Amino acid sequence: MEENLNPFKIAQRQLDAAAEKLGLDPATHEFLRWPMKEITVTLPVRMDDGRTRIFRGFRVQYNTARGPAKGGIRWHPDETLDTVRALAAWMTWKTAVVDIPLGGGKGGVICNPKELSETEKERLARGYIRAVGQALGVTRDVPAPDVYTTPQIMAWMMDEYESLLGEHHPGVITGKPVPLGGSQGREDATARGGIYVVREAAQVLGISLEGATMAIQGFGNAGQYAALLGEEILGLRLVAASDSKGGVFNPSGIDARALVDYKQTHGVLQGFPQAEEITNEELLELDVTVLFPAALENVILKDNAGRLRCRILCELANGPTTPEADEILFDKGVFVLPDFLANAGGVTVSYFEQVQNTYNFYWELKDVHQRLDAKMTNAFHGVYEMSRREKLPMREAAYLVAVSRVAEACKLRGWV
Ligand code: NAD
Repeated sequence: MEENLNPFKIAQRQLDAAAEKLGLDPATHEFLRWPMKEITVTLPVRMDDGRTRIFRGFRVQYNTARGPAKGGIRWHPDETLDTVRALAAWMTWKTAVVDIPLGGGKGGVICNPKELSETEKERLARGYIRAVGQALGVTRDVPAPDVYTTPQIMAWMMDEYESLLGEHHPGVITGKPVPLGGSQGREDATARGGIYVVREAAQVLGISLEGATMAIQGFGNAGQYAALLGEEILGLRLVAASDSKGGVFNPSGIDARALVDYKQTHGVLQGFPQAEEITNEELLELDVTVLFPAALENVILKDNAGRLRCRILCELANGPTTPEADEILFDKGVFVLPDFLANAGGVTVSYFEQVQNTYNFYWELKDVHQRLDAKMTNAFHGVYEMSRREKLPMREAAYLVAVSRVAEACKLRGWV
């Protein structure tokens, strides 16, 4: 039978399994299967040539029992409401698993940013905020960057929101540039958090990472910093990386900094000297110690999961592995660091950014790193203990930790 790759159906299936193990009552279970609020908008945007183009956008507030909705805005040609719903659900479990006082949300616009000029991007960003702004706010819903959105786009969005209100509200959006109230350390936070949990995983598994190998699928924000920090913090050796156009491979090692510089100069990885070309599919099947999927969802499927040879799978991307593939990986003994644990560093430093905006007092980089390390290390061990106690894969254990926290908050509020 064909695998169902609808991300929201996958998110609901994962929740169903957790609800059953937790013995959730039917009302709580059904409530957690759906977003609490969804907004769909149609955005007219004036293009540079004078024409008006119409874009579709979404904002989903999945669950706000533990705090305001929190989650990035993705600009992608294949964006769908169901993808945004799934990502909003995973944000809900993510803020719960790292135990920060926020709920889960997500936004998206169907567009290809690679075809938009800077001025068109600015008009789209401002138009999106005019359309959904009333539902946003530091006490309601706080967006952030995600695939193909940047600190500059966050700056335009914050400015539009503040113009609508006529007052300063830097905490309405995170991932801002540092001069506008962004946090030190936000840029590499997702990858850094992932590196901290790989470090903890290797320690409990008794694996030495110094000189061991890593491969990275997706060489954007999360992937590039994973390469740099994997090398710097863990002593890992990068052997392969890819982006949407293809990948490069060298079994004796690729200098991470040189590859990041090459990508920044040329916009692609292909043509990087001293490495051969490799496809995205081949990269996933390399014999490496740590594999980082850091692109998009649904890349590790029942058809290729059996061929993965990594020891640790650190999911920096959201939803890279299907439930069928998960079972195969568990049987093979691949240690999976599930997405909403592995990539929670980004939202954790986004939360730190909001705290600093509220205090109007800003932390030094070393304080951000130290607090992020503490949050990620605690979250890892909470999930690991659960997985040992219940003899469950890490993803299921993470679900049990997160869903029980959200369910408890819903019950305490008297919602269910
Ligand atoms: P990004 O836009 O900076 O980079 C995405 C990268 O993926 C690009 O290099 C692109 O070329 C590559 N890519 C796109 N399609 C691909 C394909 N089919 N095969 C291989 N590579 C492909 O995005 P990002 O912020 O690094 O996000 C990557 C993943 O990490 C997403 O799943 C995102 O939801 C997740 N994530 C990001 C953050 C964050 O703070 N940036 C936080 C949590 C999770």
